[in-house]
Amino acid sequence: MTSIQSLVASVVLLGLVGCNQPKATTPEPPTAKPAPKPTASLTDDPAKLRDELAAKDDDTGVRPPRQAKLYGGKTTEKICALTFDDGPKPEWTEKLLAVLKEADVKATFFLVGKQVVQYPELTKKIADAGHIVGNHTFTHPQGDKNMATMDEDEVAAEMKGTCRAVQDATGVRPKYFRPAGGHVNSLVINTSAANGMMSVFGGPNGDDTNPKKTAEMVEKEIMKVKPGGIVWLHTGSQQTLDCLPRFLAKLKADGWKIVTLDDLAKIARSD
Ligand SMILES: [Zn+2]
Repeated sequence: MTSIQSLVASVVLLGLVGCNQPKATTPEPPTAKPAPKPTASLTDDPAKLRDELAAKDDDTGVRPPRQAKLYGGKTTEKICALTFDDGPKPEWTEKLLAVLKEADVKATFFLVGKQVVQYPELTKKIADAGHIVGNHTFTHPQGDKNMATMDEDEVAAEMKGTCRAVQDATGVRPKYFRPAGGHVNSLVINTSAANGMMSVFGGPNGDDTNPKKTAEMVEKEIMKVKPGGIVWLHTGSQQTLDCLPRFLAKLKADGWKIVTLDDLAKIARSD
């Protein structure tokens, strides 16, 4: 590519990125804690940024988890955990945090690394509110090139890049990993464990990114939760925002307790 061509390509790409920029968030009040500085800015090539951050990931002292996979807790008690994939997303994340605060519930947010780089303050808000921040890959690969078809180096980079981005934003390296788009194989599970993370599955899955599902349908699905279950939802779903307060109130009225993945991991099922 000539330098003129590459300049044109950059301008076009920058234009595309610009189209996807969300509305500016409300500025922090002057009393808020200083926001962490991003270590890198999003370029037009998330895979390049992923690899740069992965190379900086400090995994000194990282040990494999007690078990590689977490499907839920082995219990007959009415306890379950809540998880939200695909954040952080401006406005959506704040709304979820507000619902959880109102219900006095702690959850786990599986975050996409490239969005963590873009929104480090939002990522820190999640952690500061007492929720667990998990790893949901760096680029959220889907389609033909996904976590189950990538080679070993790329799988590791998807995980390490997000570990580094989350650590930079929150000071804490993730202990839980959820594959993007459900694409998983033994290489993914083993690489996650080698990076100190349990791969988290579970259910019920609210299927809340499906536009055909109403809030009532999502709620009906997640009301099927069993003792030790891991409720699976997404950041960016209006149906979830609509049904979540009602769902949490119903669970509470029925004697359920929402616990964290740390609590479930202590009594993990072995399947
Ligand atoms: Zn996802």
